[in-house]
Amino acid sequence: MENAAREIWNNCLMTIQNNISEQSFHTWIKPIKALKIHGSVLTIQVPSEFFKKWLQDNYYAILLAALRAILGNEASYQFEIVASEEFDRLEIPEQLPTKISSKTIKPNYIVEDAIDDDTHPINDRYTFENYVEGSSNQFAKAAAIAVAESPGKTSFNPLVIYGGVGLGKTHLIQAIGNFSVEKGIAKNVMYVSSERFTMNFINSIQRNKTTEFSELYRNVDLLLVDDIQFFSNKERTQEEFFHTFNTLHQNGKQIVLSSDRPPKDITGIEERLLSRFQWGLVADIQPPDLETRIAILQKKAELSEVELDKDVVQLIAYNVTSNIRELEGALVKLLAHASLRSRDINLLLAKEVLKDVISQKQRNITIDDILKIVANYYHIPEDFLKAKTRKKEVALARQIAMYMSKQHTKHSLKTIGLHFGGRDHSTVIHAINSIEENMKQDKVLSNDLGEINKKINLSSI
Ligand code: ADP
Ligand code: MG
Repeated sequence: MENAAREIWNNCLMTIQNNISEQSFHTWIKPIKALKIHGSVLTIQVPSEFFKKWLQDNYYAILLAALRAILGNEASYQFEIVASEEFDRLEIPEQLPTKISSKTIKPNYIVEDAIDDDTHPINDRYTFENYVEGSSNQFAKAAAIAVAESPGKTSFNPLVIYGGVGLGKTHLIQAIGNFSVEKGIAKNVMYVSSERFTMNFINSIQRNKTTEFSELYRNVDLLLVDDIQFFSNKERTQEEFFHTFNTLHQNGKQIVLSSDRPPKDITGIEERLLSRFQWGLVADIQPPDLETRIAILQKKAELSEVELDKDVVQLIAYNVTSNIRELEGALVKLLAHASLRSRDINLLLAKEVLKDVISQKQRNITIDDILKIVANYYHIPEDFLKAKTRKKEVALARQIAMYMSKQHTKHSLKTIGLHFGGRDHSTVIHAINSIEENMKQDKVLSNDLGEINKKINLSSI
């Protein structure tokens, strides 16, 4: 029971970590211990009444959501207070860090602006090795490696990496830091989110420590600032960052920034700063394609030391398309269920556990989905299926796609014809008849149909 509780909690941690700041995570979440699981009630141990109250007031929704994502909507927590010596020694910091001193920068060690020396928000799994490459992120990754190998010495200064939420920005910029620290290339490396930078700056004003603040950030070899879009409308912070930027840049130090959109589209940022963001290289990360999603899942499975069937990987990869964090979330959830219920990880379990993730598509498998799947299967550009081409492979693929559209959607022959470059309904009838006729003798065709069917079914579960 204890093991199961720990297992569930570990899985919750991954979700929680993605939803709160690193500092809060270290202060409020890390000290929690999972004790037991009874039904869907997870008992967690916290070090004081105060701690419990703080959790309930501030993080309960996040904690609950993480647990419910794994155990369903009935799940809840029970608290057990066990005063721990360890905790007695732990100072509860104010929400804003109070101490800003250069002491927090340790050579060969990445720190944000750590409250105590052991807490730092760098994830050592965020390495280039663990960063799966695909066409969606190849360029950004190559640029990141170049910068990590010679910080400040390429023309990519600053390097700005932008992309949507959960697509790997933080992973990639931390990989730069991890790499150059590990290889001893850069001595003082600092990772900070723009929000943290802002908080610390405000704090330093309140405490008359702006000089220390400036020194802290201007004395690094490599500065990684995550999510710069949050500098928006913070004028004084922008001013401070402007000077930090200039000092570092002039001294040949490397600056790496991430943003959720291209710098030029960030509003509420001063022009002089925006233009600096574009001095070096701006590289984007796009949502991963299917192959990359599959490769990422395999990588994550490998890191968690589990083996996954190909069809399970495909099921997830086909259905979770929005971003990599959700892709990972789906996998975590599956692993948690399997281990909790001591079940094998197979397609059946995956479909059951992930039904809410994958059911969204059930209603809306479209002719366009089918076009995509068939085109992909035959490595034909999708447009060809709609075009006039009469080339044999294209014509066959087109007929298959029409046939599948009739099988898998409720659309009329007329509508189906329209989706295929405005063809007549009689053409669709002809296609369906021809496929039905041929699949009886043609083994290759019938095999292809089976495979395509599978893909369509998977994408519509
Ligand atoms: P962002 O900062 O863009 O919101 P993150 O860097 O936090 O995204 O990535 C979300 C999750 O997805 C992280 O756990 C990260 O390790 C993982 N991830 C993102 N891109 C990749 C990739 N190319 N290969 C492996 N894991 C990735
Ligand atoms: Mg991020």
